[in-house]
Amino acid sequence: MSSDANTPVLRNCIRLPLPEEELLEVTAKAKDYAIMHGAAMRSKTAFSPDSLNFAPFVLVPSSFPRKEFEKAVALQPIINRLMHNVAHDEEFITTTLAETIKVDEFTAGLFNIYRKVLAHGFTQKISLGMLRSDLMLESGCPELSPRALRTTAGEDAAAAVRQGAGTAAAAGTGSQEEAKEERKEHRESQLSRATRERERRATGIRSAYCCWKQVEINTIASGFGHLGPASKTIQRFVLSELGHADKLHNMPNNNALAGLCDGMVKAWDIYAKPKAVILFIIEDVSYNICDQRFHEFYIRETYPHIKVLRRTLTEVHREGKLGQAKELLLGTQEVAVIYFRAGYEPGHYHSQAEWDARYLMETSLAIKCPSIHYHLAGTKKVQQALAQPAVLERFINDPEEIKAVGKIFTGLYSLDDNEAGNASYEMALRTPERFVLKPQREGGGNNVYGVDIPDALKRMSRVERSAWILMDLIHPPLTKGYMVRPGGDMPPQIVDMVSELGIFGVVIGDAEHIVHNYQAGHMLRTKLSTANEGGVAAGLGALDSPYLIDSDDDDEQN
Ligand code: ADP
Ligand code: MG
Repeated sequence: MSSDANTPVLRNCIRLPLPEEELLEVTAKAKDYAIMHGAAMRSKTAFSPDSLNFAPFVLVPSSFPRKEFEKAVALQPIINRLMHNVAHDEEFITTTLAETIKVDEFTAGLFNIYRKVLAHGFTQKISLGMLRSDLMLESGCPELSPRALRTTAGEDAAAAVRQGAGTAAAAGTGSQEEAKEERKEHRESQLSRATRERERRATGIRSAYCCWKQVEINTIASGFGHLGPASKTIQRFVLSELGHADKLHNMPNNNALAGLCDGMVKAWDIYAKPKAVILFIIEDVSYNICDQRFHEFYIRETYPHIKVLRRTLTEVHREGKLGQAKELLLGTQEVAVIYFRAGYEPGHYHSQAEWDARYLMETSLAIKCPSIHYHLAGTKKVQQALAQPAVLERFINDPEEIKAVGKIFTGLYSLDDNEAGNASYEMALRTPERFVLKPQREGGGNNVYGVDIPDALKRMSRVERSAWILMDLIHPPLTKGYMVRPGGDMPPQIVDMVSELGIFGVVIGDAEHIVHNYQAGHMLRTKLSTANEGGVAAGLGALDSPYLIDSDDDDEQN
């Protein structure tokens, strides 16, 4: 839905379509390869704890501009620090969520735990943040355009001409006359590109090679630490099978699983009790099982002295208690680190028992990922507040960093019952196709898009609106490729797709100090361009990984 006839298309990493026979053969092989390398999930339609289906995947990697990828990776430690500082700013969290918690029961439940923990003082001052910053390329972005035309077309074209002249001269292959001719041609081609780009801008045509905008930041249950790298494994195999091993160097390294699990182990080290365990909080049924078990198995294999337990919130309520120093005990086992893979949506709290279990854990000495203030810092409302002018200055000192982070936000608007909120409401009614409407929820399937927004808004009272935020729709460029799904067409058809990149970050510290802060790999999810949302577990998206390209105006090289 975020694409239209003017949506630009990123060039493919290899020439498509593939001959049918080759496509059939490589797809069948890739499906088996995916299952056998843990790129898999439990079936929702024919669930069995004893079997796995391969997770939907894109056959060959989707292109992504290298510069933008590198920018996202470089920015992650700054985003980690920003979120850490936000999580520790009691005044900011409290004011930002004040209106929302009046009408949103779930956020109010979380906030209530926060308030109680604040009243008693934090037993554990250290938090473990394992974040994932999700982003999409914005093809309507005015800031960037193809290589050599990045700022004002004239200046950059001139720079490119100088560069081109240098290359021709340095090559030293022909006479001076030839070199002159070559320079002229190069200059003409650069200038005509510059003109084309100016025209494209003037007519509102978008660029495929463009900047990115943040979709959201996840502070709880940031998934795909295993499936991110696993996607690369499948696609690397496919590219090699198709005879394109020479292209593999354009697929960036991805150590997300190790990066995230090492983060848990660093927190375990800080807790400093050799017998204490790492506890995973899980849903009643885990469909996305590989993306949890691989974490567990990595820890067990790399650090065999650290035990991992899995429990639901209900089980923690039944088995959990606090020891004398407020240590969390499950039976006789002390818990050093709690990693929440559940607890982010109302459906995970069946009764007061699960809320009590969450509170018990929050008041314990265990290091939480996330602790309650980190969870609240990841709400959409906080994201919207951060995007307001001058707010970043409260959390980041360096003006260059403020500028860099400021650029990643697209328009985010409050719908609180005040002048600004009511103006956003009117704007949404007037031009709903520009927006997505989001509640304070995680896990996909909760947003309202475009033309559906007015009806949804009109059904709400003025105060109810403050549980939601309004966001500009991002318009990513298209890629074309094969999406392979369990039970899907064989051979698969070429479809139009759009991608969402997630960059992982790990940050550990307390209100005063950050002791660890690093970027920890990435994941790429791709959906049909016609789909609003692309959750892989929800059945709409597909595993993918980035193939880094330098410019969309290079010819396809196969
Ligand atoms: P959730 O917490 O449920 O994952 P998100 O904010 O990530 O909520 O939205 C879910 C999905 O909706 C995203 O993965 C993306 O596909 C789509 N989406 C969200 N915001 C935008 C936006 N501003 N522009 C385009 N698509 C969006
Ligand atoms: Mg999301």
